[in-house]
Amino acid sequence: MTLDDNWFTEICEEGGTAFSLQIKAKLHEERTAYQRIAIYETAQFGNLMVIDGFVMLSQRDNFFYHEMLAHPALFTHPRPRRVLIIGGGDCGTLREVLKHQDVEHVVQVEIDERVTRLAEEYFPELCESNGDPRAQLHFGDGIQWVAEAADGSVDIIIVDSTDPIGPAEGLFTEPFYRQCRRILTPEGILVQQSESPLLHMDIIAAMRNAMTAAGFHSVQTLHFPQCVYPSGWWSATMAGKALDLTSFREDAIMKKDFATRYYNPAIHRASLACPTFFEAALEQVQE
Ligand code: SAM
Repeated sequence: MTLDDNWFTEICEEGGTAFSLQIKAKLHEERTAYQRIAIYETAQFGNLMVIDGFVMLSQRDNFFYHEMLAHPALFTHPRPRRVLIIGGGDCGTLREVLKHQDVEHVVQVEIDERVTRLAEEYFPELCESNGDPRAQLHFGDGIQWVAEAADGSVDIIIVDSTDPIGPAEGLFTEPFYRQCRRILTPEGILVQQSESPLLHMDIIAAMRNAMTAAGFHSVQTLHFPQCVYPSGWWSATMAGKALDLTSFREDAIMKKDFATRYYNPAIHRASLACPTFFEAALEQVQE
């Protein structure tokens, strides 16, 4: 990460790329027990949260990511009632999940309480549903929470984590996916942010292989734009305990009683399409 002439720059070493945002002011910076968090006011993208030098979200474009982490899984599951979010401390994914009136309970397990407290201050619109009686904010390690949860107790698990380093490393492993599978109901779905299809095929392929090795019946990667992340193109990977993840409740999306800015049935269908190079890369990794 560099800050030069009022530009914040995130360097992506593995991609040989960098992304910059023009900054008006640094609003906050602190080192917590887990990571260094910084908040900036940008010229065009609203407030920006950065953890350990990596962009987490901007006010302008976080809707792509938060909607795509929540709605495809929730509209694929026939009756999602109980949802677990791991990470997600900015509360944007939580807000999207709570838009589903059929959801009865959402627990968000974020390791670093400071992320949520700073989101409440600098990203209040993402935290507007935190007081919903269906929401439970728990601060602790998601890996431990899943290990201690009861069999078949959750319909959807959303892993909205940082990159696979530091406290998030264990969230990208087969033993963790085995535990997730154990605590999911028979029609349960796990969905996890899975980095850039262009730059991080190794991470995506390893995640898919680990999910399959953990016993999931089907695995499906979704693609969507996310301009503040390396390459501007991002993914989430769904794993189904028994469900076919290519069909979804299109009628329910058409009749939904809440607004989305990116997600709709055509976007859901399009996000499932597998680019040719992606398919070829997956085959190569499996060889
Ligand atoms: N959208 C973001 C991205 O991909 O860059 C992620 C946003 S969210 C702020 C990520 C959160 O995951 C962080 O707040 C971090 O503290 C949390 N986290 C990392 N490892 C965790 C773990 N083992 N258990 C719970 N939360 C964890």
